[in-house]
Amino acid sequence: MMAQYVEIKAANPDCLLFYRMGDFYELFFSDAEIASRTLGIVLTKRGKHQGHDIAMCGVPVERADDYLQRLIAAGHRVAVCEQVEDPAEAKKRGPKSVVRRDVVRLVTPGTITEERLLEPGRASLLVAVARRKLSDDGALYGLAAIDISTGRFSVMETPQERLAIEFARLEPREIVCPDAIYDDPAMKAFWHEVNVPVTPLAREGLDAASAERRLKEFFGVATLDAFGAFTRAEIAAAGAALAYVERTQFGARPPLSPPVRDAGAGTMLIDAATRTNLELTRTLSGERTGSLLATIDRTATPGGARLLAERLAGPLTDTAAIANRHDAIAALVADSALREDLQRALARVPDVARALARLSLDRGGPRDLAALGAGLTAAREIAALLARQGTLPQDLASAASALGATDPALPTRLTDTLAEDLPLNRRDGRFVREGFDAALDELRLLQVDSRKVIAQLQARYSAETGCRTLRIKHNSMLGYFVEVPQAVGEDFLKEPWRATFVHRQTMSDAMRFSSIELGELEAKIASAADRALKLELGVFAALCEAVLAQAEPIKAAAAALAEIDVFAGLAELASREGWSRPVIDDSAAFIITGGRHPVVEAALKRDGKPFVANDSELSPPGESSNGGRICLITGPNMAGKSTFLRQNALIAVLAQMGSFVPAASAHLGIVDRLFSRVGAADDLARGRSTFMVEMVETAAILNQAGPRALVILDEIGRGTATFDGLSIAWAAIEHLHEVNRCRSLFATHYHELTALGDRLERVSNATVRVTEWNGEVIFLHEVVAGAADRSYGIQVAKLAGLPLAVVERARAILSELEKTEREKPVASLVDDLPLFAAPVRRAAPVAAIAAVDALREALNELDLDEMTPRAALEALYRLKGLG
Ligand code: ADP
Repeated sequence: MMAQYVEIKAANPDCLLFYRMGDFYELFFSDAEIASRTLGIVLTKRGKHQGHDIAMCGVPVERADDYLQRLIAAGHRVAVCEQVEDPAEAKKRGPKSVVRRDVVRLVTPGTITEERLLEPGRASLLVAVARRKLSDDGALYGLAAIDISTGRFSVMETPQERLAIEFARLEPREIVCPDAIYDDPAMKAFWHEVNVPVTPLAREGLDAASAERRLKEFFGVATLDAFGAFTRAEIAAAGAALAYVERTQFGARPPLSPPVRDAGAGTMLIDAATRTNLELTRTLSGERTGSLLATIDRTATPGGARLLAERLAGPLTDTAAIANRHDAIAALVADSALREDLQRALARVPDVARALARLSLDRGGPRDLAALGAGLTAAREIAALLARQGTLPQDLASAASALGATDPALPTRLTDTLAEDLPLNRRDGRFVREGFDAALDELRLLQVDSRKVIAQLQARYSAETGCRTLRIKHNSMLGYFVEVPQAVGEDFLKEPWRATFVHRQTMSDAMRFSSIELGELEAKIASAADRALKLELGVFAALCEAVLAQAEPIKAAAAALAEIDVFAGLAELASREGWSRPVIDDSAAFIITGGRHPVVEAALKRDGKPFVANDSELSPPGESSNGGRICLITGPNMAGKSTFLRQNALIAVLAQMGSFVPAASAHLGIVDRLFSRVGAADDLARGRSTFMVEMVETAAILNQAGPRALVILDEIGRGTATFDGLSIAWAAIEHLHEVNRCRSLFATHYHELTALGDRLERVSNATVRVTEWNGEVIFLHEVVAGAADRSYGIQVAKLAGLPLAVVERARAILSELEKTEREKPVASLVDDLPLFAAPVRRAAPVAAIAAVDALREALNELDLDEMTPRAALEALYRLKGLG
């Protein structure tokens, strides 16, 4: 057996091998060590190999899904090796023959279909990469994305510099690429950054020609032209993705749709740092709760949730397509009765796409069939609801027509055939409705009857032997058996009972026997059960066939349901939260009135606090001006600067994904690329960002942001010494103004920068209002034109609970600093101030202060209006003497 193991393992070196032995999957050698560590299960030993103990651990087959999930989540791939012949067959070959085993499936992060292994609201993408070298040393990358859990198959081509952005948008679970790309030294850092399991593939058979052949064969077409015009890199990537799917599925055929060109080219480019920073689909700490996605998700179906996530990840840049989506939402905002009816019907729609995929892969169960029945029934209801409307907006109309194209007989057939309570597994039987098949009902009756017969037999044995505690029981090892207490059992071993009862097992306090009658009964029951199951499996196969014959219209209906769900959810959100339809065009406008941050607003609402809405305007200031405005925001910490910055970016994302927006009104010219960066200090909590990273990211923005970009910079430059930071921030604003010329928001605590508002035409200053009351700072969260007068840092520090003594001391130092500010650079003052040496509460004298005070006094005394030129000159000399 070990020889067989070693052979199979050698053929699958990059996977953990689940080796079937009875009711367990066993793992050996280093696989066992990895699994025991990852799963926290006991590591044992079994026999020796080349003189060493063989490490081993096992997981029960019944619970294998749970363990698989954890191994996959940890980035492992698992080869599932089953017994592929009946042990009886093996015995026939000889007493020592090992049962034949083979790998029947590779479970990898990007090719799973089990409901329990998948996140309902998230696509499960496998992305393959191919490369086309260009003559000028650059390269174009073909990307192919397959979700075998839904059949989605898309391709695109992208230049190298956008590769990371596309991965950030697609969020693949697994990447495959030819080993030449994987091993390319230039890509090493890239793979590390992407942080997704990457599987390198041997390059044979991955060229565009073999890929084309493979695709044609899979889809049974003579040419790929019918699917669209694809580039060679796209075809190579699609072929690689398909090859990997075939390799992992061992002949099972996933319901892949023919490849379509991905919308990637027409989406707003958003890099990974920006996505993280804006918490689009996950919070900074990696959770879904608290992200923009979780806040706007009012979908009722898993398919809808996935589509919403996909749309949020890739906002569109085509105004007509965006307007179509807005039209659909507007119609459902206007007609709340229709919306509510739709949502009620959608609530009954299960995960149709994934159920279909499992059935196609022959991995489905009765519940998957039922899911299709329920889904298709609801689909027809929804089609009828929509048909009642006069004219529908384009996107809703096409979804409605896809729903109408399914065969109405199928859902009826499924519901009529399947029972109410369904087992997970088809082999468990009893999923066919009573009354569906007379022969099946009869067999079931027989099973029920035989239970009665067993009860009668038990009563008879009990009476005959005089043992009132005699029981007939069943287990998988003995089948049916008679169980009696030990003392009675001893009698059974003797005459006259010996002839009736055959001893099978002695327990600590009981003995177990079989009998001829029991054996016969058992055979009858088993054969009835067997025949019933056979009938049921036949019914299952017929239903499967009927479903798969309609795979295409069902997939289209599933997509349409998801789309209607997204529209209804966003319409619900818009009407409940008072969102409005944005105006989107190809101008450079950016005018938002009464804008809100949906996530912060939702959090405040839970605490019963209001959110203060704010306006913003980044449109070019005049017809003639060439470039968007830069809004420079100053204000104390905690005033709401970051919130304001982000809400503007989120509104642009929401508008272009086709949603209404949290604002009284919004007029936005298409944003083709979004950048958002936070200064290093904010990132320290995550323990990975340093000033260097901040600068690398800032450099990327200044190098890449074009005139249609939207740039958000929050406290850039604060990760270094004051003057360095100030100078970097200053120069960055000038560059944005002169070179990038894009719409930008820039929050800073360097008040000095507000002077740029006077010097640069398109820089405007804004500040978040605060007021003071009884020495406490009160945040009004209101963004107004102008610059902050002071930073209120000490008040904020006090709010944060800094010891009072420290707060008072800080106040004293601050007032000294403010008095001397104009005279001495901060650095030299710091030298003058023995900050840490000075005892608390005793204000240290500052050397320069006396002189400065005298100077100030003398200045105040001067009456400039009354002075002669000569007196003025004399005064100047006098002042100089005082300094
Ligand atoms: P800053 O960036 O200026 O330090 P934040 O944007 O982080 O400030 O905001 C601090 C807190 O103030 C937020 O967590 C939120 O609770 C509150 N806040 C921010 N903006 C608003 C607003 N417009 N209305 C109400 N509360 C707000």
